[in-house]
Amino acid sequence: NVLAGAIDIGGTSIKYGVLDNHGKVLTKSKTPTDVKGGGPAILNQVKDLVRALQADHELSGIAVSTAGQINRKEGTVIYATDSLPNYTGLNIKEILESEFGVPVTVDNDVNCAAVGEYWKGAAKQVDQFLCMTLGTGIGGAIVINGEIYDGAAYSAGEFGHMNLYPGGEPCTCGDEGCYERYASSKALSKRARSVIEDYNSLPNLFWRAKNEDKLAESVINRWVDDVALGIKTLVHIFNPPMIVIGGGVSEQGDYLLGKLEQRVNNRIMSSFERSLSIKLAQNGNDANLQGAVYQLLKYMK
Ligand code: BGC
Ligand code: ZN
Repeated sequence: NVLAGAIDIGGTSIKYGVLDNHGKVLTKSKTPTDVKGGGPAILNQVKDLVRALQADHELSGIAVSTAGQINRKEGTVIYATDSLPNYTGLNIKEILESEFGVPVTVDNDVNCAAVGEYWKGAAKQVDQFLCMTLGTGIGGAIVINGEIYDGAAYSAGEFGHMNLYPGGEPCTCGDEGCYERYASSKALSKRARSVIEDYNSLPNLFWRAKNEDKLAESVINRWVDDVALGIKTLVHIFNPPMIVIGGGVSEQGDYLLGKLEQRVNNRIMSSFERSLSIKLAQNGNDANLQGAVYQLLKYMK
């Protein structure tokens, strides 16, 4: 029976927990990412978190999910945008293995979410699909025959940096007008905050919209329009049988899915529409942790 320490490093928070070999979450929590401190400080945070988990559990390995482009074989950060400063080049696997003496795997957060959904979520038994998560940024994964498509430098699937509006808002990647500046959940909360005086949270925004608050609904509609634009491009390139949408907003269920399907279907050619199913991720906020553990179990076999 394997107990894995699982860590998910994002541009806003680090989620961490202990999972068993069925992907069951035994304990979990989160803490803000030390973005100001940057890469080395973030790794110190991770070490402290692993030590805290070890105090109560005998861990047989450590599974890391993280934003950024990750060489999964070496466990290194090939490239991370300024959402995680001084993170590029870190060998997370080596640092954690020498500190803790147990096997460590590292993979991109959305690659983890994707294999998590393949293991025990919306994409069970589905060999080909795209996964996209809407969070602080937007990440993507391309799954073919149950495996992540890596590209030439383990960097395929950076959907968040497709260009949506040339000349638009500056992005942490150095370019401007990127998809994630408009269609991430962070972009939605930013827009909501700027037009709704007493805005407090995304779940509350959706609650208001579902209860006929026209202003809340219009903010959501604008955002869904942008989300759909990116999906349209992806659908025309990949003709995927399924796209799984993850991130906290996936909790908004049919309300969100209905709006999204309608806008995507209005834009894509009918041949694509007939073969496409859009699903919301089922593993919710645990998806990245679960998928990271799936990768660790595969590695330890
Ligand atoms: C990063 C990706 C990451 C995604 C989600 C993007 O800004 O470039 O590597 O997967 O955010 O965290
Ligand atoms: Zn960008």
